[in-house]
Formats: sequence, C-alpha cells, structure tokens
Amino acid sequence: MQDSTTLKEKLEKAKRAQKVWSKEDLKTRINWIPVYKKLLLDNVDELAGILSAEMGKPVSQAVGEIKGATGRLDFFYENSEKYLEEEIIMESDSHIEKIVRDPLGVVVNISAWNFPYNIGFNVFVPAVVAGNAVLYKPSEITPLTGEKMIALMHEAGVPEDLVITVQGAGDVGSKLLDLDIDGLFFTGSYGTGKAIHKQLSGRMIPCQLELGGKDPVYVSADNSDLDSVAEDLVEGKFWNNGQSCCAVERIYVHHSHYEELVKLFTEKTKSLIIGDPKDDSTFLGPLARPEAVNLLQAQTQDALSKGATLECGGSSPSQFKGAYFKPTVLSNVNHSMSVMMDESFGPIIGIQSVSSDEEAVKLMLDTEFGLSSAVFSDSYESAESILEEMNSGTVYWNCCDRVSPNTPWSGRNHSGIGSTLSYMGIRAFTQPKSYQIKL
Ligand code: NDP
Repeated sequence: MQDSTTLKEKLEKAKRAQKVWSKEDLKTRINWIPVYKKLLLDNVDELAGILSAEMGKPVSQAVGEIKGATGRLDFFYENSEKYLEEEIIMESDSHIEKIVRDPLGVVVNISAWNFPYNIGFNVFVPAVVAGNAVLYKPSEITPLTGEKMIALMHEAGVPEDLVITVQGAGDVGSKLLDLDIDGLFFTGSYGTGKAIHKQLSGRMIPCQLELGGKDPVYVSADNSDLDSVAEDLVEGKFWNNGQSCCAVERIYVHHSHYEELVKLFTEKTKSLIIGDPKDDSTFLGPLARPEAVNLLQAQTQDALSKGATLECGGSSPSQFKGAYFKPTVLSNVNHSMSVMMDESFGPIIGIQSVSSDEEAVKLMLDTEFGLSSAVFSDSYESAESILEEMNSGTVYWNCCDRVSPNTPWSGRNHSGIGSTLSYMGIRAFTQPKSYQIKL
C-alpha cells in the first residue's frame, strides 16, 4: 500500500533526479538503450515466464512480446537525437529563430497489463530520453513485470531515482494524480481514462490517454484469396486472447463472400489450441481478469437472444480451471448486440453481412471508439476510398492488429487523446521553447 507521504517522497526524489538528468547531454540520455535491450534479451526466458504467470499469456507469445518490443527501443535509440535536438528555423543577418525542446519535468505513467513491455516502452523510454523523470505505476495484475522492467533500466544506467515504480491498484493511481506532477501518460480503458481526465481537469499539464477500441474490419467483394484473409483475421482477433487494444473487434463481410468467410474463419478458430500457457503449443491461455469471462458470456447470451448464430465457442472449456473462455464466433449479428458495440477485450467476435461498401462504411463508423480500422481488398484504390472515411488513429489495408514504432499510435474519441511512437511520441514528452535572437 502506498500512502500519500510515501508518494510525495518518491516525487521529491524524482524531482531532484530530473534536475540533474535534464542537464546531461542528449547522447548520455540515449546511450543506455542498447544496454537495456541486451539485458532484456539476456533475461528473456525469465521475464517471459513472469509475464505469463502474471497474466496468462502463453510463454511463447510473452517471448515474442519482449523481443518485438525491443524494436521500439531500436527506434528510440536511432531517432531520438534527430527529433529532440534544437532546430534552427530561421537565420538571417539580423535574427535567428530556433526551437529548443525542454522536458516536461516529472511525469506519471499509469499502465495496463495486456502488453506491459510494448506500452511501457512507449512511455517511459522516450520520457527519460527527453530528460524527464517518471513515476511508473504498472497494473496490479503485472506488478513483478513492472518491477523487473524498471530494475533492468537502472542496471542499464538510468539513475534509480529517475524512474521509480509505484505499486498498487487504481486508488494509488488516483493518488499519484493529486501530486504536483508535470504530465500524465495513461494506457487503459475508456472508463478509467475518462475518470482520470476529469480528475486532472483544470490542471495545466499534458494528459495523454491511450484507451480501448472496437476496431472494425471490412472484407470487400473484390477479395480473391479468402483463405488468407481469414487466416489474418483469426490471428488479429485471437492473438493475446483478444486482449489487445487494436484486436479485431467487429468483422463486416460483403454478402457475396459472407458464408465462405464465416466457414473459413470458424474452421481456423476451432483449430486454435487452448491450454496451459507454459506449454509451447498453447495459443490461448486463461484470461488475465477472471471477471472478463462474465462479460464474454453476457455478450454471447445477448447476441443469441437477439437472433445471432453461434458458430463455435460460447462457454468456458470444462477441462481447465481458471478464467478460460473458448474462442467464440457469432454470425448473423447486428448493431443491437453488445458484441458489435462494446469493447469485448477477449476471444469473441461477431461477423456481420453487408450489402455494399457504403453500408460497411456506415457500420464501421457507428461507434464511439476510434483506434484502428481495416479493409481487406485486392485493390488499394477501392480500399483507400473507404479508409479515408474512417475516423480512427490508424487504418490498415490487408493487415490488422499491428503497431509500428515509425508511425504515431493514437486514438480518437473514446480511444484517447495524443500519440505515442514516431517523432510525435518522442516530442510528446517535451515542451517547445522558442528562441527569438536579435543579432
Ligand atoms: P484499466 O483502465 O482497468 O487500468 C489501467 C490502469 O489504470 C491500471 O494500472 C489501473 O490500476 C489504473 N487505474 C484504475 N483506476 C484508476 C483511477 N481511478 N485512477 C488512476 N489509475 C487507475 O485498464 P486495463 O489495465 O484493464 O487495460 C485494458 C484496457 O486498456 C482496454 O480497454 C484496452 O483496450 C486498453 N489499452 C489501450 C491501449 C492503447 O494503446 N490504446 C494499449 C493497451 C490497452 P490497477 O489495474 O492496478 O487497478
């Protein structure tokens, strides 16, 4: 438990450390990153075992997450100097105008459990490189993972008081926000994001929120390889047990392909292996939050009571103890059903038939969320005309459920405010200072 005095002491330590760190040159603030990467990779099996034990991700996918997340470290290592160094904007005989990017100060990072390495690196790595200190609160579901990630940063050369782990549940997160901090960077659900935004209202500090989604995919009439589309969609839906912010959450299929796509998708879903996350062959382990099973059951029952067809799944497998739910496919769904409107964040999907591209666009836009949207089509031109209509931070053509460090990761509406990754996600941890210099 963290009382307010302990939190204030942590803040004071972080403030002192930040003052020193911000004076270090940019190279020093960046050079620990390859050491950190090596430490992570040297310890990947232990770290993956911890992550898997904490939140149920199969060990093989945990290894994949940690190795994959080091790609973000490479991005920050290779690009931070370029995006943070001072910029001469105008130089004449009489004046120089330039931008210097000052750090914010001490920022709070409140994080989720589903991909702790990816979403942690998105924040505390560029924050430190930009000269900030960080109070980092991992999810109470993955506390040891949080502890390890930060301990290895210290081992790599980041001062101990510069990045401080704060353990605890939501009440501790809320207390952190009452401190005299200089910015908040949050990853989590819309509900918590909204509460945080309200709590910070009136405070003149950046409040960046990366929230949930209800991400749609449209399979248009001009697809010639439905088998490969179904393959991509099954992975985009069920990777990490559907507990990805940009997991496929709704599928719309042109009626000319509907029956075939449902058949292929269901066959592939049935072949996914449910099991012990420690087992190499397991694709779906238990869900991280036991209460998620109730939501998935409720979405299934709601859809069935309104006329949906259960293609597979719909219940917990009897042979496993714990929060397991069979991968579930519902067809003949519509927007009166919760499974098509509310974030499921689990292994369930509704597949709806549409009569035209226009109907697909209308349904894809029928949401409060705006994280990602995807179109599968043989023609980039026809996909592009749909993607241009989407009100989401990311759009995909012939792919889904992927994040690249090169481009901004951002949500619209209930999916959040601000961007991580790319040059925007580096500069997000700075405030510009304009120099107007008369010669
Ligand atoms: P939550 O919103 O439940 O929790 C996120 C973090 O906020 C946790 O550390 C939690 O603490 C903390 N918290 C809870 N209540 C408060 C509060 N009142 N004040 C301050 N902090 C609080 O989300 P989950 O952890 O369950 O993560 C899943 C959600 O995150 C999904 O909606 C998913 O879509 C979204 N997400 C979005 C991403 C994006 O990039 N857009 C990426 C990953 C996930 P604790 O859990 O310890 O109680």
